[in-house]
Amino acid sequence: METILFNTPYLSGKEQKYVKEVFESKHYAGNGKFTKKCQALLEEITGSKVLLTTSCTAALELTSLALDIEDGDEIIVPSYTFVSTASAYERCGAKIVFAEIEPSTLMLDIRDVKKKLTERTRAVVTVHYGGLPSDLSGLIGLCKEHDIDLIEDAAQGFGTVSMGGHLGTFGRFGTISFHETKNIHCGLGGAIYINNPEEFDRIENIWERGTNRTKLFRGLVDKYTWLESGSSFYPSELQSAFLLAQLESLNSNLKIRQKLTEQYFLHLADLETEGKLTIQKGMPTDQWNHHAVVCIFPSENICEKVRVYLKNKQINAYIGYVPLHSSPKGAEMGWKKEDLPVTEEISQRILRLPLHCEMDSGDIERVCLELRSVLE
Ligand SMILES: *Cc1c(COP(=O)(O)O)cnc(C)c1O
Repeated sequence: METILFNTPYLSGKEQKYVKEVFESKHYAGNGKFTKKCQALLEEITGSKVLLTTSCTAALELTSLALDIEDGDEIIVPSYTFVSTASAYERCGAKIVFAEIEPSTLMLDIRDVKKKLTERTRAVVTVHYGGLPSDLSGLIGLCKEHDIDLIEDAAQGFGTVSMGGHLGTFGRFGTISFHETKNIHCGLGGAIYINNPEEFDRIENIWERGTNRTKLFRGLVDKYTWLESGSSFYPSELQSAFLLAQLESLNSNLKIRQKLTEQYFLHLADLETEGKLTIQKGMPTDQWNHHAVVCIFPSENICEKVRVYLKNKQINAYIGYVPLHSSPKGAEMGWKKEDLPVTEEISQRILRLPLHCEMDSGDIERVCLELRSVLE
């Protein structure tokens, strides 16, 4: 029997054609035709100003430079997230303040965020886990009220629309990942959404090694110079060409994932009614990108039993995040396991089911059948 992989990187079929065009153009380095095309397409889709980056991690690091973080500034992030959500700010001297998640959404619990606000709080970083929206309207209100920034780690959220806008377009900045584990990818890649157009010029300078080099290309200045802290944030044209092929097929990618996900939900509905598992739910969407099917089991033991059982049946389900506050780095920053009991407990009960565009309905049935067997 064939192994059902957790993920197989998506291919649209046009990647090689576009990458070949890069060879023909002899412009490889970046910020060329394909980078500009991807950015224009992303701007058309989202209505925001967009710059490509080498990863979502890099996009988050770009936001930390844009925020001019000073030692001791506090950034509130969920502990239940990928390391970059926190490390991007920690490396600039920020104090990372971990907040709890809500057990049903697995995303920031606003009540805990409120408790953790201080005079030094500069920003809240919300993660749209599974490509589902976190409590954006609540967070937007809270950040406005306290005059702090909202940053959206929308690494998993590309293609999801909620409250009439794409995830990543609601905060001061939104960051996207085009890593091969996400719906749409270019191996490694990402983007930053700059949601206040007045900030665009400065962000573009930081993105171009802290210089105004892009203004030189546009004929706005006759030599370029170093203006502020920056880095080399954009991908090569090879990656952008690959990405353009993927972006152009966003709709068919979404359709395949939607079909698979709906089939999962159909088969899992009974197990959910019987209380054998619950499926992660976010805030309402106008369109969901169907990034992940995340199951929450009643106990850590059951969760581990299910994972091992599926593994033996050659089905690769993937565990949730290991909380950051109880990691070795979290301990070094002074955090203890018991500081975030909800996160600590629920993170042990999470499995993500296999989901990628090379699966078919037979695969979904097989996963659900085995899930039913082990849970009965
Ligand atoms: C994947 C992911 C990242 C990191 O993305 P890269 O492009 O690999 O840097 C950051 N945050 C979240 C929530 C992610 O899922």
